[in-house]
Amino acid sequence: MGLLCSFQRCFICGQSGATITCCDMDCDLSFHLPCAMEAGCVTQYITPYRSYCPAHRPEQAVQATPEPGTLINENAAKSDC
Ligand SMILES: [Zn+2]
Ligand SMILES: [Zn+2]
Repeated sequence: MGLLCSFQRCFICGQSGATITCCDMDCDLSFHLPCAMEAGCVTQYITPYRSYCPAHRPEQAVQATPEPGTLINENAAKSDC
C-alpha cells in the first residue's frame, strides 16, 4: 500500500511506471490510472484515487453510481405524500 515507489510495474499492461496501488492493505499490486480505468479497477474518479485490483474491488462500488433514471424514480416515490 502507498506510493513509495513510482516505478512499479503495472500488473495490467506489464509496463513500469505504475502510480496507482490497490487500496487493500495486504495487496501491493500497482497499475497505471488509464489501465485501471480500462479494467474497471478505479471506483473513485477524484483524488485521491480509490482503486483496487480485480481481486479486491468492492462489488458495492457498482451500486454507488446509480443511473440518473434510478435516482429520479426513488425520489419521486419518497416524495409521494
Ligand atoms: Zn498499465
Ligand atoms: Zn488488491
